[in-house]
Amino acid sequence: MAIPLDWLRASREKWRKRRADAQARIDLRNRQIEAEKVRLAAEHSSHVAPPLKKVLADSWGYHPPVHDGIDLICEPHATLYAMCDGEIIRADTGGWWGKAPSGDVSKGDGIVVLRCTVDAGPFRKGLNICYGHAENPKVKVGQKVKAGKPIAEAGLAVAWHTHLMVNGRKDDRGVGDRDPRPYYDFARRAGGKAA
Ligand SMILES: [Zn+2]
Repeated sequence: MAIPLDWLRASREKWRKRRADAQARIDLRNRQIEAEKVRLAAEHSSHVAPPLKKVLADSWGYHPPVHDGIDLICEPHATLYAMCDGEIIRADTGGWWGKAPSGDVSKGDGIVVLRCTVDAGPFRKGLNICYGHAENPKVKVGQKVKAGKPIAEAGLAVAWHTHLMVNGRKDDRGVGDRDPRPYYDFARRAGGKAA
């Protein structure tokens, strides 16, 4: 027995319409998600900023216990920027590694620690953003800074770079206890301009 042609056509039309409706809903949802991302980025754009204007490589990341941060390879003496609104709790030209600090601004053992004072994306009040190999600090302990403020320069340690760390410690030790990647990525996305 032959299937009525009209019924086949109607059935095909019905399914085509259902698929189109479903696709339209997905498209709408995707547009809403994109709009939400833009809105969130705009909302936080003045509270977060990338740590460098230009990063040449950032592939050597968080691999505990071997590596407690991300290496942001950059140009010589590249300016380091506050990644979020915060307060400087450490700005040393040496002694990051504890032993025999050189005190020399070109020896790559400087450290700046920024304590976050804003909740934005993954950033939380009280988190410490640590810039290892930071030299020539342009800020003082106790100083309040806005995201994007120049705070130091990248130092030379094998390559010119900063070793970026994030931790939730109460002290000012320059160590990382979590992957800085989500913070770095958010700050680059939401913080606009740099990097
Ligand atoms: Zn490193």
